[in-house]
Amino acid sequence: MATYDDDNIFAKILRKEIPSFKVYEDDKTYCFMDIMPRAEGHCLVIPKSPCRNMLDASQTQLADCLATVQKVGNGCLRAFGADGITVQQFNEAAGGQEVFHLHYHILPRHEGDKLRP
Ligand code: ADP
Repeated sequence: MATYDDDNIFAKILRKEIPSFKVYEDDKTYCFMDIMPRAEGHCLVIPKSPCRNMLDASQTQLADCLATVQKVGNGCLRAFGADGITVQQFNEAAGGQEVFHLHYHILPRHEGDKLRP
């Protein structure tokens, strides 16, 4: 597997070299709106420390991200009146990953809805 490259777009967002719409932030993680939302409220949770995806992440990075996913996920139920959330996470190009900084998609869901492609 390739090593982490800090030239990726999410590393640039963390360094504030490009803008993002912040949803939540703590010492270890950052959550911001996805630029091409597949559902209302589609956002992304990333660790502030470098890692490519779940395959090279530390236990701490995984735990910190999932704690934020849970926090923001519950917030989505309140903010968007969602009935549930879908959490997606892709690893390496073969697994559908396009940006090589670990991230979790949070997609607020409503009964009977369909995700946009
Ligand atoms: P996929 O594109 O197949 O979902 P990823 O899991 O790597 O693969 O997702 C990258 C996500 O990052 C996409 O949903 C894309 O819309 C989002 N994205 C790309 N650039 C930005 C940006 N500048 N700000 C916010 N989201 C972005």
